[in-house]
Amino acid sequence: MLGPAILAASRSDKMRRIVSAAPVTKPVVNRFIPGETVDQVIPIVEDLTRKGLEVTLDVVGEDITTVEQSHAARDAYLELIERLGALGLGDKAEMSVKLSMFGQALPGGHELALANVRPVVEAAAAIGTTVTLDAEDHTTLDSMFAIHEELRRDFPQTGCVIQAYLFRTEADARRLAAAGSRVRIVKGAYKEPAEVAYQDKAEIDKAYVRIMKILMEGEGYPMIGSHDPRLIAIAQELARAAGRKLDEYEFQMLYGIRGEEHLRLAAEGHRMRVYTAYGTDWYGYFMRRLAEKPANLLFFLRSMITKN
Ligand SMILES: Cc1cc2nc3c(=O)[nH]c(=O)nc-3n(C[C@H](O)[C@H](O)[C@H](O)COP(=O)(O)OP(=O)(O)OC[C@H]3O[C@@H](n4cnc5c(N)ncnc54)[C@H](O)[C@@H]3O)c2cc1C
Repeated sequence: MLGPAILAASRSDKMRRIVSAAPVTKPVVNRFIPGETVDQVIPIVEDLTRKGLEVTLDVVGEDITTVEQSHAARDAYLELIERLGALGLGDKAEMSVKLSMFGQALPGGHELALANVRPVVEAAAAIGTTVTLDAEDHTTLDSMFAIHEELRRDFPQTGCVIQAYLFRTEADARRLAAAGSRVRIVKGAYKEPAEVAYQDKAEIDKAYVRIMKILMEGEGYPMIGSHDPRLIAIAQELARAAGRKLDEYEFQMLYGIRGEEHLRLAAEGHRMRVYTAYGTDWYGYFMRRLAEKPANLLFFLRSMITKN
């Protein structure tokens, strides 16, 4: 029951102020968001890649309210890509982007988000890497998929995310499982109504397996975004059954979650990509991590009580 309450709080400005100002918040945040600036995150990328891992970088931020903020988001990614390029990290690090940070929800937002994300995709291609469009709440997805399709005309390697909890996703997976496409499948991290999404964990897991099967049997490049050991084992089985080699799909996990598993899969020869978020506007990202595992919230609250 805690998960939905935390997800509701993730959209509350009042809670944002309270949580962000609490002195004990920072160490807990650091587990999931290991830096606020490019200078802080670059050594982390270097460390992960030295260990045989790959990376996807997310400059945290979402639901911005002005055009200027959307331009700042674009510029933050451009600065990051320039730094990665100078260090020759283009073959190891890609970008993950939330279109709401690029202005998608503002008036004329679809065009604004496309105009902001295009130079980021171009810059990524110029250093030999790519961009994946994250999936946000279900009301944003038609626009996200349309932007994805538009970007793929010039940059076919642009990826996108689909969420197993949504009823629509099996159909999206069939459409996207075509040659050259890169699709990340995740369970889904937002609070969605029963009209559009499975609410029961077991139903979500079953849908996840059906969707992985579509992706593995398709012609695209599946990216399995999960920490769930059962789903990871099933992914390996499905890949084998579909005759995929180890470099024909990859696993992805979040920074700060099951780090030993990142290394185990990489040591087995799998491509393992660590989703690494950084920046100052971390509230929404952080609250979704708390909602996924209520034990995280209890740890957080305990540290608040003992330190105050
Ligand atoms: C690379 C990547 C990218 C993602 N991108 C998106 C996106 O674009 N859109 C979107 O809606 N969602 C995204 N997500 C989040 C996703 O939807 C799930 O909310 C999240 O991955 C938890 O689901 P799970 O598959 O790990 O399974 P779960 O059943 O939730 O977790 C399995 C196990 O993993 C561990 N675990 C999971 N979450 C946590 C946590 N927060 N803290 C500590 N341990 C944890 C626990 O041991 C848990 O038992 C992404 C996830 C990953 C890994």
